[in-house]
Amino acid sequence: MTTEKIRVRFAPSPTGLLHVGNARTALYNWLFARRSQGNFILRIEDTDVERSEERYEAQLIEDLRWLGLDWDEGPEGAGRPEKGPNGPYRQSERLDTYYQYAEKLLTEEKAYRCFCTTEELEDERAKAQAEHRPQVYSGRCRDLSARAVKKNLASGKPFAIRLKIGEEPLRFYDLVRGYVEFAPEAVSDPILVRSGRYGEPGMPVYNYVVAVDDALMDITHVIRGDDHISNTPKQVAIFNAFGWKLPKFAHLSTILGKDRERLSKRHGATSIASFREMGYLPEALINYLALLGWGAEDGKTETFTLDELTRAFSLERVTPSPAVFDFDKLNWLNRHYLKQISAGRLAALSWEYFGGLLPEKSDVSDAVLVWFVQMVGLFAPSVDHLDQLPAKSLFLFGFDPELARTSLENAAILDTDASRMVLTELANRVRAHSGHVTPETFKSWMSEIKDATGIKGKDLYHPVRIAITGSHSGPEFDKLLPLIEEGADLDLGIPTVRTRIERFVGV
Ligand code: GLU
Repeated sequence: MTTEKIRVRFAPSPTGLLHVGNARTALYNWLFARRSQGNFILRIEDTDVERSEERYEAQLIEDLRWLGLDWDEGPEGAGRPEKGPNGPYRQSERLDTYYQYAEKLLTEEKAYRCFCTTEELEDERAKAQAEHRPQVYSGRCRDLSARAVKKNLASGKPFAIRLKIGEEPLRFYDLVRGYVEFAPEAVSDPILVRSGRYGEPGMPVYNYVVAVDDALMDITHVIRGDDHISNTPKQVAIFNAFGWKLPKFAHLSTILGKDRERLSKRHGATSIASFREMGYLPEALINYLALLGWGAEDGKTETFTLDELTRAFSLERVTPSPAVFDFDKLNWLNRHYLKQISAGRLAALSWEYFGGLLPEKSDVSDAVLVWFVQMVGLFAPSVDHLDQLPAKSLFLFGFDPELARTSLENAAILDTDASRMVLTELANRVRAHSGHVTPETFKSWMSEIKDATGIKGKDLYHPVRIAITGSHSGPEFDKLLPLIEEGADLDLGIPTVRTRIERFVGV
């Protein structure tokens, strides 16, 4: 017995940035293909000439690569030949094929030319609306005589090509929803090729080209968002007209925001590019997207690498109920992966966020790079995404003592006798000290101050931390002090511990 090779496709329209919904579609297709040693095909659906742009295609390819999703067939980006034997993979380059197949349907009388003008169709629709009838095409041109058609063609009348829909319900199997059936009236006689000008055919429509391509590219499973479910009966009718074997379908649930409205920019970042810019790791996004509508068999595992997902994923466990996009959970996963990545990768990814605080990477010494690795390593555990790093570490590069003193939170801490005593003792020690403050020196100062004043814990440490960093919370002193002192030696404008305390306390 030969088993059919699984072939799936991701078929985005390059009319905007790749957003989480489509990225999840790409991921599920990819996982399904990889799981079953099948093929994953990238097809660019750019028949909407007005809205399709090359830059979106380029960005899309970059985003997919960034996510780690590779494809076996499809375009490879500008200036590179596409790969695979079923191309071209851009629909705008396949128009002849669509016209040829439409001709075939015309010849077989499974499709017909419709000469109705836009105005006539509008009138029909308005009339149907007024009479509370469904606004479907009346089929007026369906039974035009051969003579009438010939006459219209001879007079150069523009025409669209419509598919004849039969009486039978349109059925398909959906791996997420089971059998789905639509009444034939739900689709009426859909247009396959729009009406053109000067006797030329117009653009073929989405539902038609998708069906032709899915058939010619031997797609076995169509996995896509459920916003396409109402298109599917039309595509099924086209498959049936050609006598092609139907693929299986899997319509993925809608992604909602926390308010249970369809996820949109209103809810925050939604494009893959913007998550990347904010410093989310691809492995975190992949992991999160996988969980948006799919869950592990054990019902509890939530962290999965792409490899683990490839082994664990199945369409049977994809739920038809809407998924709610939860930024907190995505942040949690991002923190999880930030903790796991190497110090070198973390630093490489973080550098770009420090424009304005640090020189160009190519202009700094190795010592700065080594320092930077330590620095981001110290602050990364306290951020959700990497673009938050500069704010967390800004104080290293200097802070305004006046502002630090007067901020509401700090003022309350500083305005106590205990704080005043601690800072006076600290100032005395700084005055008597020269050179850098090592963690050992600092530790002995703190224990001396504790002994001298009887002040301990928060009351002891908070004012000191404010004096050095401008805030009462932050990384442990053992790591922070060397970072400050080493940074101060690097010509980055970082004040030493001593300078900080002097400025703050006014030694
Ligand atoms: N081009 C369609 C879209 O971007 C997808 C079509 C499909 O998957 O069938 O929504």
